[in-house]
Amino acid sequence: MTLILFAAPALWPEYRDTLPAALTEAGIEATLVTEADPSQVDYIVYAPASPLQDFTPYSRTKAVLNLWAGVEKIVGNPTLTQPLCRMVDPGLTEGMVEWVTGHTLRHHLGMDRHIVNPGHIWDPTCPPLARERPVTILGMGALGSACAEALRALNFPVTGWSRTEKPGQLHGDHGLRRALSTAQILVTLLPKTPETENLLNADRLDLLPQGAVILNPGRGALIDDDALLAALDRGHIGHATLDVFRVEPLPRDHPFWTHPKVTVTPHIAADTRAITAARVIAENIRRGEAGEPFLHQVDRARGY
Ligand code: NAP
Repeated sequence: MTLILFAAPALWPEYRDTLPAALTEAGIEATLVTEADPSQVDYIVYAPASPLQDFTPYSRTKAVLNLWAGVEKIVGNPTLTQPLCRMVDPGLTEGMVEWVTGHTLRHHLGMDRHIVNPGHIWDPTCPPLARERPVTILGMGALGSACAEALRALNFPVTGWSRTEKPGQLHGDHGLRRALSTAQILVTLLPKTPETENLLNADRLDLLPQGAVILNPGRGALIDDDALLAALDRGHIGHATLDVFRVEPLPRDHPFWTHPKVTVTPHIAADTRAITAARVIAENIRRGEAGEPFLHQVDRARGY
């Protein structure tokens, strides 16, 4: 069996040994290559930074296994007719939980006041307890639900909102209004789809409580940039910590870089970790060969 890795060259050393080792562990005999006759390729391991855009010649390929959780750069490709699976990697999830928890605690505890205190002001105001700080997570998938679990373990009351109705969560437009109205800290972990683009527009930002903090490790397009800047400028939104942007790298002249109430992190919230991701890929190939349903197969109509 032939497996081809289409990704930036820098990723080859990460997968060169880990992927064959995971395949051997799963009892699969396969050769991992970076170049091959397309008609001989059984599975494609794909990162959206790869130049491959025309999947037509890969007539024998049984699945395209994405290395990223987000698939917006590939899901609409008309030449891609094979099953497409997104990445749900325990290592990536762990990273996202750490980023979301860390930035939530930064704002909850008001750490900035003490880290940057040029006037050496002795302000003994104690922060509230986590149980008094409602957090809302938009998008309760693999990442959102893991973050909710970690935040709940710290006693934050967490409200979750997603597309479909689920016990203990909100959904739909009415649910979104409720979810936003209580969010002192809002975490956006939605995929970028036609339905989620500009979800946080001026009207929805207005629904957040005065001084709410936004953490966006989802996708830049979820938030209307100009509406966010306006809401920050008039003090309605207290701070925005943004990891993802409409254009990446974030252009040097973008106002987010210099805005005093914006923290920019350079799309580092959570990375796929080769050691754990290789096992996920191997398991999906095992499933493909055994005729079992793939894990995390993308629904093209839904867009995620
Ligand atoms: P996932 O498991 O597919 O979960 C997506 C969640 O969003 C689901 O709960 C889904 O609802 C909800 N959703 C989708 N469309 C919606 C809509 N129109 N209205 C309401 N809810 C909607 O995805 P994931 O693995 O958690 O990843 C989420 C996103 O995180 C990725 O797509 C990617 O953009 C981003 N990400 C960022 C980084 C980073 O480093 N910054 C790293 C990895 C991923 P249902 O549960 O009802 O389907």
